[in-house]
Amino acid sequence: MKIQVNRLHHPVTALGPGTRAGIWVQGCSIGCRGCISRDTWEPHEDAATEVDDVLGWLRALPVDRVEGVTISGGEPFDQPDALRELTAGLAAWREERRGTVDVFCYSGYSLARLRRRHPEILAALDAAMTGPYRADLPTDLIWRGSANQELVPLSPLGERRYRDQVENRPQRPPLQAVVELDAIRLIGVPSGGVEEPVEELRIGPAGRQLNRTTAEAGLPPPAVAAEATPAPAPPEATAPAAGPAPAEVPELLFPWGPHRPADGESLTLGRAFPPFAQQLAAYPNVGRVHARVVAAGGVLLVTDLKSLNRTFIDGVPLPAEAPSELRPGQVLRLGASLEVLVR
Ligand code: SF4
Repeated sequence: MKIQVNRLHHPVTALGPGTRAGIWVQGCSIGCRGCISRDTWEPHEDAATEVDDVLGWLRALPVDRVEGVTISGGEPFDQPDALRELTAGLAAWREERRGTVDVFCYSGYSLARLRRRHPEILAALDAAMTGPYRADLPTDLIWRGSANQELVPLSPLGERRYRDQVENRPQRPPLQAVVELDAIRLIGVPSGGVEEPVEELRIGPAGRQLNRTTAEAGLPPPAVAAEATPAPAPPEATAPAAGPAPAEVPELLFPWGPHRPADGESLTLGRAFPPFAQQLAAYPNVGRVHARVVAAGGVLLVTDLKSLNRTFIDGVPLPAEAPSELRPGQVLRLGASLEVLVR
């Protein structure tokens, strides 16, 4: 079974309690006025990902850094069969973790409709945020884009973790910066109106500098990755210009020698790309454009670029085009034979 995925994120700290994994789906038929995530509206086959691969990605995350999963989009319930399989897999994973992780899902549909049509999916969740985004009903309630949206605990764990949040109005909405291939994007639901300006930090063309650009956009939908006014970022994603000096980026130990990416560096790994094209020519199993490693804020992220022979961390295949953090002690593998120790 495949599910259309827009993005996979880890860590997510601004949409749900604790440190979480984020699964943003592709496709939404609701069409809320003011939604700025129109890029998630159109379903497309290119985004189809095996549910098992999504679950494999989740299982490969560091156990002590996943307290829950947030599913958003797009509209998760527009893919009910895939969502059913995903939430069933998450339920099994939660059992393995002895109930220490929760599953929180956003939907633009009403709770009544979800109860009527998808009770078995709701039964697999710990909490849900339901209702469409309404630009005319701004709110300062946590994790919500508009006041009509309802935060609903659905399990005993959900009651413990979410009940106190139902009426929580933080002074500042939780926001989080995430380093991606060519940008630092903020996740969360900022306060403010639909015309709130957004700021985006982009890694420059050479991948070595941070440039700052400003754009106009509407208030984000209930829970998608949204560019917004920068707020304090978690250590994993601090923009270099904004805070204390970033931690040292981990080093990559290739068979031909070590390479420690400079902070802000974007390194494409493939037989057609410098600086390692010559060395990689000895690995026919590695694609011409196989994967990209980006260093920013002391964090190393690797993204498989739809390679034929896949990219792995500690033997677990990565989904295509979804950044994963590389941590010291892990082994990055490209295809069948090129192993790179992270240290
Ligand atoms: S706000 Fe959410 S539910 Fe509404 S159109 Fe946008 S993605 Fe769909």
